[in-house]
Amino acid sequence: MLNASTRTAALYDRVRRVIPSIEWPAFADDIEAILDLKRQRNAVILAHNYQTPEIFHCVADIVGDSLALARKAMTAEADVIVLAGVHFMAETAKLLNPQKTVLIPDLRAGCSLADSITAEDIRLLRQRYPGVPIVTYVNTSAEVKAESDICCTSGNAKAVVESLGVPRVIMLPDEYLAQNIAAQTDVQIIAWKGHCEVHERFTPTDIRQLRENHPGVTVLAHPECPPEVVAEADFSGSTAAMSDYVGRQKPARVVLMTECSMSDNVAVEHPEVEFIRPCNLCPHMKRITLANIRAALEQNRHVVTIDPQIAGRARLAVERMLGLADATPLDRFAPASPKVHQ
Ligand code: SF4
Repeated sequence: MLNASTRTAALYDRVRRVIPSIEWPAFADDIEAILDLKRQRNAVILAHNYQTPEIFHCVADIVGDSLALARKAMTAEADVIVLAGVHFMAETAKLLNPQKTVLIPDLRAGCSLADSITAEDIRLLRQRYPGVPIVTYVNTSAEVKAESDICCTSGNAKAVVESLGVPRVIMLPDEYLAQNIAAQTDVQIIAWKGHCEVHERFTPTDIRQLRENHPGVTVLAHPECPPEVVAEADFSGSTAAMSDYVGRQKPARVVLMTECSMSDNVAVEHPEVEFIRPCNLCPHMKRITLANIRAALEQNRHVVTIDPQIAGRARLAVERMLGLADATPLDRFAPASPKVHQ
């Protein structure tokens, strides 16, 4: 009789570069059960780029950054969506799929950016800056989205800001993303004080040390990093843009200044590239495990619900962004002139 590890050997082949063989037996049973439950429940699993490789490569149906997940969630042919990511992503999936059951495997999977601002804060900002449009990063609650004019992601923020045709916008809640976009556009940006607890920890000194210790390394930084980190990087873009960059440019050696698991997931696709891995973990993303994905499907927990009054307005802000994303190529930004680091 074959055991679960043997039956899932083909899946293990995909991730053997990033998961030691000794760990696989601990995953194999849950993976088999999840694949079976997905068939039984007509379910799909959406996984963010920061999920661990056994989730991202072995049970997920749709993977990507926040924007890709939001867009693809709309076309998911399923009764049930399991969001392997954080709570605001599950809410966005629910906003776009009001008829479907959306499950988040752990309700504690939050986000320091989403927690940094409330709907009341936005109402006060409107009083202080009358008539100035509010562009809200998708890393926010449905209540905050409902008070906003349009959403954005790190992949399309510049295009969204410029699409409004106004000299000044409020962009929240990520101060560093707002500052990084402000450096790329003539639109004046009023920022909020939210930060991502993962990306705010990277420093220019980290980059200089990486370049010293790993000569020739190409440095890619997420735009949630502080501006002085982005300024030292060779390229800055969303997780999707970073992944594309590695696929197109095939640098011999690369470091991704972002959450740990991203490097593992991209490395699976690019065995020829050497990944240097400074590790900043997102504790919220890591709340999601194979075990709680399995439990979510077995027990139909935790069902995401949004007050219909809030959902209608929040959906509008997300749909305005998606309408724009369909019409405009996603923006990626790099330093204006290519930098050469010796
Ligand atoms: S990585 Fe940062 S922005 Fe993403 S979920 Fe974690 S805390 Fe939020």
